[in-house]
Amino acid sequence: MSAMRLAFQAAGVSGGITCPYCLQKARLVDGAVIYPHRQDLRQHRFWQCAPCNAYVGCHKPNRRLGLDGTEPLGRLANVELRQAKSAAHGCFDWIWQDRHKTRSEAYAWLASKLDIPVERCHIGEFDVPTCRRVVEVCEGFRKSMLVTFQK
Ligand SMILES: [Zn+2]
Repeated sequence: MSAMRLAFQAAGVSGGITCPYCLQKARLVDGAVIYPHRQDLRQHRFWQCAPCNAYVGCHKPNRRLGLDGTEPLGRLANVELRQAKSAAHGCFDWIWQDRHKTRSEAYAWLASKLDIPVERCHIGEFDVPTCRRVVEVCEGFRKSMLVTFQK
């Protein structure tokens, strides 16, 4: 992640985070609020908009990078977006986890399919239509692999 982008995100936090759904201020909460049963996430912080059931995790604190643990990992996601992102990850991660491509090749390939720069190719930051497009192009790839195997 570039220093400029981190600076941009940090600048956003000083004024608080706005929920993209209702445009109200999100609340900074700890992991116990979002995942009451996950002891391991207790120390993590999240931005939450309870009325929208939307949240996003924060970067781990890193003094060297100027991160105080309140910088969001991306935009707040509601149920629909969280499901769309996990579907996108499910279809995409298989491509590099099964070694059809290396991880970086897979991201470069996905970026070209989506016609976006590879440095902006983060499923965590995609919106619902882009997540659906990820599923489509990865399904297309999977089918092309099946055809190859059948030859
Ligand atoms: Zn909201």
